[in-house]
Amino acid sequence: MSRSVNVAIIGSGVVGSAFLGQLKNLKHSIHFNVIYLAKSSEEALFSKSYDPVDLSTYATAPTQTPLSLDELVKYLKESAKPSILVDNTSSVAIADFYPTFIKEGISIATPNKKAFSSDISVWNEIFKNAELPGSGLVYHEATVGAALPIIGPLKDLITTGDKVEKIEGIFSGTLSYIFNEFSTSEKSDVKFSDVVKVAKKLGYTEPDPRDDLNGLDVARKVTILARISGLEVKSPTSFPVDSLIPKQLEGIQSANEFLEKLPEYDSEIQKVKDEAFAEGKVLRFIGQVDVKDNKVSVGIGKYAFDHPFASLKGSDNVVSIKTQRYVNPLIIQGAGAGAEITAHGVLADTIKIAERI
Ligand code: NAD
Repeated sequence: MSRSVNVAIIGSGVVGSAFLGQLKNLKHSIHFNVIYLAKSSEEALFSKSYDPVDLSTYATAPTQTPLSLDELVKYLKESAKPSILVDNTSSVAIADFYPTFIKEGISIATPNKKAFSSDISVWNEIFKNAELPGSGLVYHEATVGAALPIIGPLKDLITTGDKVEKIEGIFSGTLSYIFNEFSTSEKSDVKFSDVVKVAKKLGYTEPDPRDDLNGLDVARKVTILARISGLEVKSPTSFPVDSLIPKQLEGIQSANEFLEKLPEYDSEIQKVKDEAFAEGKVLRFIGQVDVKDNKVSVGIGKYAFDHPFASLKGSDNVVSIKTQRYVNPLIIQGAGAGAEITAHGVLADTIKIAERI
């Protein structure tokens, strides 16, 4: 008889729906028995008898009020099989509960950055609890660069004795697109504010582009990579992050008013771009972890026209990992966002967990 694991899924938004679609069509020797699905904070599907949720009809099936996180732990612990929690939300409250799930033997697969990039105390508790006998496993490949293989390979290098020296990369699809369009190896007069407007129109930015331009999302990803590399980063605001939002526009209420006023500040960033161009370089928005010097930073970097970061296309992410073994850095590049791509990263992690528990 084939082995079977229980799966509880929270969130059926952009990534969550793609995850459910891929899980429904999954062909694998392990059977994934979905016993709980919280579609939102108001609607959930589950039964006391742990009947599997039908993934073909979940969108229209009658729902119940979701269990509290305490109740969910109890529900999963009392199920006969090992359980995996898949958190497809960006909820801080769920993230803060990871240490409890793990301690109680429930494993976690997630693209939610919050638990790994907030205060270091949450990170420490998660990984301390993960070492306890009978604890759950935790996989979060999709928290940096969507499904690009970054966290797994980085952990493999470290576990096998390599020493990370420096990590740098372009970790935001939105800011990748904006800088790839704005700063090119061919002379162009395209304005920063115009590129931001197009990016918003194409749906590449958050509803308020300032949520991309403030650099915090990049800071969270860099925090995760720095911590894996052994740096004690207290929080994503404990190191220098250069926001792309002009100081004078920080307090503005609406996203529309922000976009209207942004052209007034084009000349500042244009000057930086022109200076870089004169040196044969382009601008890119990067995160850096300098393990040797114990330094983490996020901001604009300048790269020669022939550097791999300069030839990046569209909204791709790229990361360069320099270690004692990889003297010429290991470069990992590709799409760093998107529903299907991110969902496959989460599903691959779910499968890895199922194979180990
Ligand atoms: P989304 O906003 O489309 O989906 C999140 C869903 O979670 C929403 O439907 C919301 O109702 C639900 N939710 C929130 N709290 C809940 C709760 N307590 N119980 C049940 N449901 C709850 O966001 P998304 O784009 O699907 O992203 C999901 C996660 O994946 C986020 O952490 C995001 O940072 C991460 N991620 C997304 C991408 C991407 O390309 N979209 C890439 C990498 C990582």
